[in-house]
Amino acid sequence: MITSKVDNVELKSWKTILQQSYLSWDDLLKYLKIRAEDVSGLNILESSFPLRVTKQYASRIEKGNLEDPLLKQVLPITLEERFNPLYSIDPVQEIGTKQQPNILINKYQGRALMVATGSCAIHCRYCFRRHYPYSEKIGEKKISSALDELATRKDINELIISGGDPLILDDSKLEKILEVASSYSHIKRIRFHTRVPVVFPERVTPGFLQTISSYSPLLVIVTHINHPNEIDTNVAQAMNLIRNQKIVLLNQSVLLRGVNDNIDALLRLSHKLFEVGILPYYMHVLDKVAGAAHFDLPRSRAQLLQTKLQELLPAYLVPRFVEEIPGQPSKTSVT
Ligand code: SF4
Repeated sequence: MITSKVDNVELKSWKTILQQSYLSWDDLLKYLKIRAEDVSGLNILESSFPLRVTKQYASRIEKGNLEDPLLKQVLPITLEERFNPLYSIDPVQEIGTKQQPNILINKYQGRALMVATGSCAIHCRYCFRRHYPYSEKIGEKKISSALDELATRKDINELIISGGDPLILDDSKLEKILEVASSYSHIKRIRFHTRVPVVFPERVTPGFLQTISSYSPLLVIVTHINHPNEIDTNVAQAMNLIRNQKIVLLNQSVLLRGVNDNIDALLRLSHKLFEVGILPYYMHVLDKVAGAAHFDLPRSRAQLLQTKLQELLPAYLVPRFVEEIPGQPSKTSVT
């Protein structure tokens, strides 16, 4: 039986814990015992996409290690400021195709994606929505009107709830979305895209589990884990608690230079995902978002890594290496 730390935090309020996240690079580096002057190209200026790291995630970063693959995902560096004409603020052309401002995006046949919040528990430097115009507040009114629109869209059979990170929403707000969407007979599945159980497992409270358990036959949770070191015992416990609700767990990753672009990290990631009950789903090559070019890799490297994984793993542990090409009816395989 799992009795976890995450079981016990609800009384303390997950929001209180989240407020204690690192919001400045100097506090984070102090905790990690790294001197700022040793980090080449540290971006010390205020950014429109500022540093945000939960204490739980920071605890998995190796102290004193500038090359830590988790640290690289969250530390702002000056390379983000370098202009590259091939990288844009809207790499997958979502801003132009949204059906309602900031809320409902209908990219693929049968599926609609709801941007339910602009907030996240962590800021990932390579995020393809790092420039998304969340500033128009995504409040209950907009969510309600998106749900109203969904009622009329009989061509949609799957609702994808994304963000930001949707699990940042209160249980009551999640419950409302789930209750309404699941009442539509044409909605057969509801999928969450989230990094919260990974970067902030304290959010997986008994109240949250109760909220999702009522809808479990419809639910799929797609986590976002890029490196095996992101999975510690707290994450494993959180995943186990979710899995106990009979919810399908899949994972998508982003292939990132200097983070997981080697066969050892990818092999360990697949093995660890399976150990905690998650199947690898997609490995995305980087969406060409402005500010993240230094994480990108040649497609040939992605192809080589996929081939090696296929040689070394059973097919169900090999994620599909894909890229998102705006206007295409589905993700495109890199092979
Ligand atoms: S948690 Fe997801 S949406 Fe938020 S910054 Fe990271 S990748 Fe982007």
